[in-house]
Amino acid sequence: MNKKRTVIFGGSFDPIHVGHLSLASEVCRRGLASEVWFMVSPHNPHKEQSRLSDENVRLEMVRLAVEGHEEFKACDFEFSLPRPSYTINTLRELEKRYPKREFILLVGADNWNVFDKWYRAGEILERYEIIVYPRDTSEAPPLPPGVTWLPAGLLDVSSTMIRNAVACGDSIKNMVPATVEQYINNNNLYR
Ligand code: ATP
Repeated sequence: MNKKRTVIFGGSFDPIHVGHLSLASEVCRRGLASEVWFMVSPHNPHKEQSRLSDENVRLEMVRLAVEGHEEFKACDFEFSLPRPSYTINTLRELEKRYPKREFILLVGADNWNVFDKWYRAGEILERYEIIVYPRDTSEAPPLPPGVTWLPAGLLDVSSTMIRNAVACGDSIKNMVPATVEQYINNNNLYR
């Protein structure tokens, strides 16, 4: 039986933006997976993250952003795992919970460059396929078998830009879906 190829795209998504969505679309458009799950990272009790919005607020914005996209899912799976949530643990728990799916990790080239420092990096590499997308470079670094380069052009937008724009009273139209913009306004986020 062919397992359903499911890409895990982790982030704090504070907030999710069109850059994240366009990258996820590119993954599906190229046939690398049939679904992309936006894995919202929970608060890490060992890190000073007081400025990070509440995880349920971030999750709600992802939910709004993926509405109408059958191939995208907002995922709170890590909220119920022990913290800090290490990627290898998340992947193993996902496998147990969803045996009919094959999970693939999506990471930026910046993260890939320090991948050997990740907790149990060797095991991740051995057991899971990884897709690497460009960050600050369009050149593919040398990649071992099982790791694929996604030559996607990234949109020039980040969550930091959006938070700063809101704080300055500037428009964030075109940076986030309209439903997310409305949610940010209605809930007075990032002011
Ligand atoms: P911040 O500005 O708060 O650091 P961010 O915009 O980088 O946030 P994250 O929630 O940290 O957003 O993003 C999750 C992942 O999305 C990151 O690993 C990052 O590499 C990637 N990402 C960030 N910006 C873009 C973009 N414009 N296009 C595609 N992917 C992006």
